[in-house]
Amino acid sequence: MARYTGPVCRLCRAEGVKLFLKGSKCNTSKCPIVRRAYRPGQHGQARHKVSEYGLRLREKQKARRFYGVLEKQFASYYDLATRKAGVTGERLLQLLETRMDNVIHRLGFAPSRPAARQMVKHGHFLVNGRRVDIPSYRLRPGDKITIKEKSGDFVKLQLAATPTSKVPTWLTVDPVAMVGTMNALPAREEIDAPIREQLIVEYYSR
Ligand code: SF4
Repeated sequence: MARYTGPVCRLCRAEGVKLFLKGSKCNTSKCPIVRRAYRPGQHGQARHKVSEYGLRLREKQKARRFYGVLEKQFASYYDLATRKAGVTGERLLQLLETRMDNVIHRLGFAPSRPAARQMVKHGHFLVNGRRVDIPSYRLRPGDKITIKEKSGDFVKLQLAATPTSKVPTWLTVDPVAMVGTMNALPAREEIDAPIREQLIVEYYSR
């Protein structure tokens, strides 16, 4: 399946929550989900009866869209999560959170996950001194993220456009030196994502 290239605000409206795909616009009154809080399309305002299956499917789709992951890759994250010790849903969220593009966004180096994805692909970041241009690259505790020397000014511009949000406790950032560190794997309560992971586990266990 190809990557979705249509208007991303439709995705938020379809899921009924803010997925923060547009950066600074997401926190303003221009956010379409504030102005039109119903599903997109001709029958968006009609009542919809959602089945149990539909609920679980929507939760899975919401998580995919929130982290910008395609269907097949999401299924392999789930598969990996089931093979790890611990609670499957929590492990799944951990795998998604430790993706390079998500961490760049959480550190405040990019205004949104899609923007972070593009910046990573363009090779602006180094992990432990080595260039990493794979958005799905999985970071590990102790990894240090720095900005390529030539990209410093560009990333500073992005930083200026990034809404100030709290950096989660499992990450630390030095905004002057522009260095981010992953201290530990995130615990569930440290993951700020509008996702009910239990429903995703139920979706794949059906
Ligand atoms: Fe979603 Fe942001 Fe668009 Fe609002 S502005 S609908 S939060 S992508």
